[in-house]
Amino acid sequence: MPLFANKNKTPLGIYIHVPFCRSKCQYCDFYSLTGRDDRLLDGYLDAVCTHIKEAGPLAPDYVVDTVYFGGGTPTFFGADGMAAILTAIRKAFRVLPNAEITFEANPDSVSDRLLRRLRSEGFNRVSLGIQCDNDEILKKLGRPHTYAQAATAVQRIRKFGFKNLSVDLMYGLPGQDLPAWERTLKNVLRLQPEHISCYGLKVEEGTPLYEYQEYCNLADDDMQADMYLSAVNILRQHGYRQYEISNFCRKGHVSRHNLKYWNGDPYLGFGPNASSDFGGSRFTIVRDLKAYIDGIKKGGQVLQEVQEIASRERAGEHIMMRLRTAAGIDPKVYEHRYLLPFGPLEEYLTECKERGLATKTYDGRWHLTPNGFLVSNTIISDLLLIQEEN
Ligand code: SF4
Repeated sequence: MPLFANKNKTPLGIYIHVPFCRSKCQYCDFYSLTGRDDRLLDGYLDAVCTHIKEAGPLAPDYVVDTVYFGGGTPTFFGADGMAAILTAIRKAFRVLPNAEITFEANPDSVSDRLLRRLRSEGFNRVSLGIQCDNDEILKKLGRPHTYAQAATAVQRIRKFGFKNLSVDLMYGLPGQDLPAWERTLKNVLRLQPEHISCYGLKVEEGTPLYEYQEYCNLADDDMQADMYLSAVNILRQHGYRQYEISNFCRKGHVSRHNLKYWNGDPYLGFGPNASSDFGGSRFTIVRDLKAYIDGIKKGGQVLQEVQEIASRERAGEHIMMRLRTAAGIDPKVYEHRYLLPFGPLEEYLTECKERGLATKTYDGRWHLTPNGFLVSNTIISDLLLIQEEN
């Protein structure tokens, strides 16, 4: 990793990929291993701490304002290991006192002991994977918890002083119809999370669900669209602002870490399959825990992919990422940053506006409407084609 000066004084985000889960969910294609193999757990902890220690001096100009432990299931890995990794981060980087420090958790792995320890270490945000309120569906998905466990987990999380709670929900699940999805939303709203992420189920090749998808009564595209629009309405009525396609929050609770991905800000990832965007390059670590541990032991050869991102490509990413957000694209920023004309894109966005898919705000920014978010893939690929031709 090259040593880079930080001329713009942009703060850095740090992502830790914790590749362990109690069991594998039927739809999941994230990199994680199941079960408890102490040798692997210890090897992972050593490798990730060494990696962080080596990377710190390469980014001397940066302060860190977000740290995110994802996975996998960090809480299954355990509080002691997570605390040791956070300590390694604090030693190697300058973590700001008001940094957002998040961990992902599953409802079955948040004990009092774990929460007390993590709160005292400075973790201040929890992202809890609830998915839905129906135990039968949770079981079909292979989720290792019930809805009652999720509700108890929320009480515990509050008891230990976490004031920033996000919950993950999914729609389009096996056997789930629109009323069932709306019931999930209403039940979860009673838990009063500050932040809610709603994801439509995607059947990924290579997952068990992919093999038997036709037998499990999945929602079609139209039904998924209805579920999505219903979530946008219900959450708006309950005071949640949609700030990204899938993300909703109460005032002052956007995910500062995830905003970095959508804004194109720098972040460094550690652990197998973690990605980074730093110093003009994007790199991904090998998707294999043993190779990661060995590579770090032998001198840090753990990258699977390194991409230098050219300015035109960055401009395309800017369109892609900014149109996911409610803030949208500012033509002046686009033209100034990438030296490309916005006019041809604006012509197309004006057509989208006439079809109720996009709007332009008083300050000239363009963003998609909820109906536009539903067809954002088509809109974005059309915009990328137009960009290429100009
Ligand atoms: S708990 Fe999360 S990371 Fe683990 S298998 Fe399930 S969805 Fe994947």
